[in-house]
Amino acid sequence: MNNVKGRINLEQIEEFKEMLKEVRQIAIVPHSGPDGDAIGSSLALYQYFKKKGIAARIISPNEYPVFLRWLPQNAEVAVYTEQADECLKWLENSNMILMVDHNSYRRSGDLEEILEKHPGKKVMIDHHPDPESILDLMFSEVAVSSTCELVYEFIAALGDGELIDAGIAECLYTGIMTDTGSLSYNSSDPRTYYIVADLLSQGIDKAKIHSNVYDNYSADRMKLLGYCLNDKMEVLEEYRTAIITLTQEELKKFNFKDGDTEGFVNYPLSIKGVVVSLIFIEKNGMVKISFRSKGDVPVNMIAREHFNGGGHINAAGGRTDLSMQKAVALFKEVLPEYKNIIVE
Ligand code: 5GP
Ligand code: MN
Repeated sequence: MNNVKGRINLEQIEEFKEMLKEVRQIAIVPHSGPDGDAIGSSLALYQYFKKKGIAARIISPNEYPVFLRWLPQNAEVAVYTEQADECLKWLENSNMILMVDHNSYRRSGDLEEILEKHPGKKVMIDHHPDPESILDLMFSEVAVSSTCELVYEFIAALGDGELIDAGIAECLYTGIMTDTGSLSYNSSDPRTYYIVADLLSQGIDKAKIHSNVYDNYSADRMKLLGYCLNDKMEVLEEYRTAIITLTQEELKKFNFKDGDTEGFVNYPLSIKGVVVSLIFIEKNGMVKISFRSKGDVPVNMIAREHFNGGGHINAAGGRTDLSMQKAVALFKEVLPEYKNIIVE
């Protein structure tokens, strides 16, 4: 590995090593609605601990997209909403919770309260801004492309870089790829590429990983995307903003499966001049909103200030109990507050 400085605090690594001595069993918990980075980092850590002879299991708050289910050791992911008893039993016997790719219990979905009350040691590995200082140990670094990149550094800092084999490398590369739009955004630090180079040197098939994740649309999903762009997209030129809305009824019409709308919010950013894109989706009696932007437009601010959410500058999320119509109306009402930032 090229000697570009790593980002893991070595004192914290020593602390973690001490904690490991007392560990009986670990529960690795990705965020609710896990994406490639959350599942990739969880599976990489699972394989790492297995090699170290430490019992670990991944407890996902809810289902994760089918396009990730080819990943090595996928069968080790237990889904709380599907296998509650099994998950609760594992959590009960664990004395360490490893929270990955999120930094507040609010993002742990239905596991929020269970994790909050859990008596075990709590450790976080994450790259989101503004972590809640709630855990025993936090490896929190926003200057990385992804949690997977940080997990690479974490394993290396533990002195176990040589344990990163092709299985772990496939998982880590997947998270780096999905969190950076295949290395198009959030990936300008040379260190990311040293890490990617090291992962590739394990003999992983980058083209296959890309194809497994991105070339797996069902016909219904492709038609839903066409419908979104053709019938549902509204471009607010004055604000260089595009919005798409999807109701439950519309999703049903296209036989919606979990993960089907993943990435749809990015498409309008390919329109010349558009720098903000939102998708509003009706989900479990709420409206979930995904925000994306280009350049310096902080969509996490809009998500935080008006939609009970947050996230990164260019990729954020939020939710509201308002109806779809009212949620869109609220967004249009507050948009002028941000006009100066958007239209510079
Ligand atoms: P997505 O649009 O893919 O659901 O989320 C994009 C990013 O926004 C996530 O990586 C996460 O950082 C953030 N995010 C999504 N939903 C929420 C939310 O409800 N609360 C907060 N604080 N951040 C969110
Ligand atoms: Mn991430």
